[in-house]
Amino acid sequence: MEVKTSLLDNMIGVGDMVLLEPLSEDSFIENLRNRFDHNEIYTYIGSVVISMNPYRSLPIFNPDKVEEYRNRNFYELSPHIYALADEAYRSLRDQDKDQCILITGESGAGKTEASKLVMSYVAAVCGKGQEVNKVKEQLLQSNPVLEAFGNAKTVRNDNSSRFGKYMDIEFDFKGDPLGGVISNYLLEKSRVVKQPRGERNFHVFYQLLSGASDDTLKKLKLDRDFSKYNYLSLDSAAVNGLDDAANFRTVKNAMQIVGFMEDEVQSVLELVAAVLKLGNIEFKPESRCNGTDESRIKDKNDLKEMCELLGIEQSVLERAFSYRTVEAKLEKVSTTLNVAQAYYARDALAKNLYSRLFSWLVTRINESIKAQTKARHKVMGVLDIYGFEIFEENSFEQFIINYCNEKLQQIFIELTLREEQEEYIREVIEHNFYLFFYACLLCRVQHQSGILAMLDEECLRPGTVTDETFLDKLNTICAEHQHFESRLSKNSKYITDHSLPHTCFRIQHYAGKVLYRAEGFVDKNNDLLYRDLSQAMYKANHSLIKQLFPEGNPAKVNLKRPPTAGFQFKASVGTLMRNLQTKNPNYIRCIKPNDKKASHIFTDSLVCHQVRYLGLMENVRVRRAGYAFRQAYEPCLERYKMLCKRTWPHWRKGVLSLEGRQNKSLLWLFFLEERRRQCLQNLATLIQKIYRGWKC
Ligand code: ATP
Ligand code: MG
Repeated sequence: MEVKTSLLDNMIGVGDMVLLEPLSEDSFIENLRNRFDHNEIYTYIGSVVISMNPYRSLPIFNPDKVEEYRNRNFYELSPHIYALADEAYRSLRDQDKDQCILITGESGAGKTEASKLVMSYVAAVCGKGQEVNKVKEQLLQSNPVLEAFGNAKTVRNDNSSRFGKYMDIEFDFKGDPLGGVISNYLLEKSRVVKQPRGERNFHVFYQLLSGASDDTLKKLKLDRDFSKYNYLSLDSAAVNGLDDAANFRTVKNAMQIVGFMEDEVQSVLELVAAVLKLGNIEFKPESRCNGTDESRIKDKNDLKEMCELLGIEQSVLERAFSYRTVEAKLEKVSTTLNVAQAYYARDALAKNLYSRLFSWLVTRINESIKAQTKARHKVMGVLDIYGFEIFEENSFEQFIINYCNEKLQQIFIELTLREEQEEYIREVIEHNFYLFFYACLLCRVQHQSGILAMLDEECLRPGTVTDETFLDKLNTICAEHQHFESRLSKNSKYITDHSLPHTCFRIQHYAGKVLYRAEGFVDKNNDLLYRDLSQAMYKANHSLIKQLFPEGNPAKVNLKRPPTAGFQFKASVGTLMRNLQTKNPNYIRCIKPNDKKASHIFTDSLVCHQVRYLGLMENVRVRRAGYAFRQAYEPCLERYKMLCKRTWPHWRKGVLSLEGRQNKSLLWLFFLEERRRQCLQNLATLIQKIYRGWKC
């Protein structure tokens, strides 16, 4: 008869890397491979869950499994993401400890799927009732909405999150959900106007064109044919296994559940349509008598339709695409735009429109899902942020994304160590594993942070500022720094290499070296929108669009420039890190088995690379250097009572031998190797001691 009760039962390979013997990188990877080949995608390192992306649906996520893992101790069953979710939830509910679930890994490793599995598990096991169910449903349905607007097909992942997301789920003292708050981090808005080869724009554009009714499309003045829109890449418009039309219905339904009014949904779709129209506006040069070229709109039909959609007077927008007004104190100076500047203005408007719409969606969802009571609540935060990225061409977006990943890696190291140390101090246990891999931290984050600060300085400097001037400054300062640093250590993180193309710089990240192209850094960091355009948007007879461009209100002219994109990102990541540090961390480290998005393929070199940069070997070593398994006295006694005469009336000497085979509750004993029996004897003595102490 099959008995599935213990971590050791039916175990493929070793379920917890802490028990792996002998421990080496090769045996670690071999163990992952062995388990992966047998559909065991989860493996522990103590309380950390390693999750391998199976790239196919496995029958291990269903209500029966939820029941199996519910209220069970972490190590009792085979490793599963549900065990981590259960542990975090029970610790929040029963011990009143705020939790955060930190999900990391590179693009396509399965972070978003993992975050949804955690959320659905918690939703399944927490309270029931009409009100509670409504809250749960709203929290869960916020996912498809945000994914439609914030995810896109990339070469690495057909559903890649192009924004960072942190969601706090709030619970009352009983552990029933009260609501939630979502924070979003820097949407990759450059994708709206241009996508790398083989990639798509955000899902919602394709979903709308494929899934909306003819009537809706007519109202939005749209054509179903993707190829009619400049902003939609053609070479990869249809994605295998992705049903845009069906997803459109899912998203509309989700918006309704979350609480969007019908007219709000309509407004959102009008803005999406307006972005597509905007992309089709094209410009041509018109020579002026002074020998310069001025930009003129080629065909005004798209402009006209866009203006109709947004209730903007056509002449106002047309003027905003032809002139730029610079205001300085009491003076206003208008200059004409040439064709390149007009295209720049058009794209800047499209990016701003879309990214502000995205932030508005998050705010609107938050309004719906926020807790209705001010009573004290407990919080479980789930962080799903874009993974580390190394492309052939890496730009400002990758720089920002990788900065955030460096921070997360830093916090992982800090918290793993801090948690260990605090536990040892609490238990008054001597330890000497101290700061095993603190050294890994060094100053990578400071380096990136310094580059961002330097970029800001450059962006705010008066005079002509270009990507070249930024790069020159960076090279000069880093060369000085490197010279200084090389006298201290050989471990420089900014790499000067004279063979690099002259527009590039390279950084040694924890996950590898990345070559960044400086082109566009200044512009993307500045993130400026000509005032004429924001004023044109503010004049719109469309309440949503007006709301999105408050700076266009002439009554509120603010001559101070808004903070740069880098500055805002750095500040929001800083707040996030401080927030995470106040919570009890739970880690899911996602690994991608191959880069073909294929099931059943395990590429050793790719996995090895991730194991290295995620610091998993160091993680096992820290865990092994200390006490790998911890349990409170009471459950320990309860679990192992049968090992000792005084706590188990049926005890007989033979139980520690293979005779235990007869006794089902002791089935797990056969799996222990000979030398572990000694441990068992010790455990029996320990149980006796606990029992004595407990009785006193
Ligand atoms: P990114 O950083 O690009 O957002 P990610 O780490 O969030 O990447 P996911 O979108 O979660 O990656 O996963 C990529 C794809 O892998 C999913 O669309 C799905 O096809 C598959 N996948 C991931 N996890 C699982 C799972 N547990 N079961 C089945 N398929 C999965
Ligand atoms: Mg994702």
